[in-house]
Amino acid sequence: MFVDTHCHLNMMAVKNYGDKFELKDLDIIKDIIIRSQKTNVNKFLTVGTSLQDSNISILISKNFEQVYSVIGIHPCDSENIFDLSEIEKLIVNKKENKIVGIGETGLDFYHKPYDKVKQINFFEKQIELSIKYKLPLVIHVRESVQEVFDILKTYKNNITGVIHCFSQDKEYAKKFLDLNFYLGIGAIITYPKNNYLREIVNFMPLNRILLETDAPFLPPQEFRGKQNSPEYIPITAQAVALAKNIDIKEVEVQTTQNAIRLFNAAGGSLPLP
Ligand SMILES: [Zn+2]
Repeated sequence: MFVDTHCHLNMMAVKNYGDKFELKDLDIIKDIIIRSQKTNVNKFLTVGTSLQDSNISILISKNFEQVYSVIGIHPCDSENIFDLSEIEKLIVNKKENKIVGIGETGLDFYHKPYDKVKQINFFEKQIELSIKYKLPLVIHVRESVQEVFDILKTYKNNITGVIHCFSQDKEYAKKFLDLNFYLGIGAIITYPKNNYLREIVNFMPLNRILLETDAPFLPPQEFRGKQNSPEYIPITAQAVALAKNIDIKEVEVQTTQNAIRLFNAAGGSLPLP
């Protein structure tokens, strides 16, 4: 069994990016889960990006046994929020809300305009929530790797989590591994130009790799231009297997164990297959 450790099921279900999620959209998610089970993907972490989105993640995870939620405020959504009190209220009930992580948080200095001070403030506050509630962090990095690293470093030995859709160089891979973080590997590893990522995966210990899609974004090479889906996780697993010159079965077993080890530490709600 594979785990998709990072997808946005709510965004997959709506017609256009940003459309409001409605209860009837749960039927679309049901279909996505059924399709994914056919390719042996049977656990899903659906990730919130705003308060509203986080509530929807919880709603989805409560509706489907196979789905768990990661909740938090994406750096690009930090403009529209004043504090994290509502997020914290959800985390207090982490067990019944099936919350297994905090995110996606981090820093994004790519999408302009951005408020650097506010982003850093919300990033640090979410790190503090992760410590307080013993939940791993799911971290978004864009044009901000040094700043993210510098902040995480100040909390070393008190935090863990995943650098989602890792796309930095080998030096940063080593630095994040040294901070006790996992690296989330997505379908960008299948893109012809991304030799650097295949090289990183080749040297990285398999016990620190998590598989993810970031669906509906970043589909594998063969589906570029289309919506990404958790059902394509085995394509990324195959690319990891090829980069490490091992069998895909080994990737499947180990990355699922990794996901359980990281996200289970929270409250034991992600069960063993
Ligand atoms: Zn994402």
